[in-house]
Amino acid sequence: MKKRPQRPIDRSLYNEGPELDATALDTPERILSYCRSKGFINGASTDIKAVIESNPFLRLEFDDIGENDAFIEKIDDQMYRIVINARHSRTRQRFSMAHEYIHYQLHRDEIERMPKGERILHRNEERNSIEYQANQLAAEILMPEQTFFQVARASKGSIERIASEFDVSQLAVRYRAKTLGIGGHGL
Ligand SMILES: [Zn+2]
Repeated sequence: MKKRPQRPIDRSLYNEGPELDATALDTPERILSYCRSKGFINGASTDIKAVIESNPFLRLEFDDIGENDAFIEKIDDQMYRIVINARHSRTRQRFSMAHEYIHYQLHRDEIERMPKGERILHRNEERNSIEYQANQLAAEILMPEQTFFQVARASKGSIERIASEFDVSQLAVRYRAKTLGIGGHGL
């Protein structure tokens, strides 16, 4: 397996361009650029499973993990394992995958201290916590802002139709609408 050089990331190396490093996508914009360059966006839906599976340093597994949605753990020097609750709906699993993927891209140094199992979108988080950030950015990569407004308009604000377009849960759509400062009845 190819070793990643052990040196701090020179952020200037990862600005745009077709050769985005899949292990160093530290903003939602870079993650989405990577997805577009790899053809992982189908219609409005981001294929987060394909994004994770395309990364040789990530292993994706589905297992019965009880009340929890998912977790990520370090399994050796550079390898990480993401485990998703096998009993949850596909849309809920997709949000869990995006949340753990954000932990991998942005909170890698914290992963060893994370519990082996967490509940996602079903708890209130401090706005400055990494959990809050993981939910925000997961929503952003699954429902990019511009696309969200387009889809919301075309769907006449129907939460059900928006959820279907993005292949996410209605809870995730409501959460995203709230983070974009829109809400109320319908949208
Ligand atoms: Zn988390």
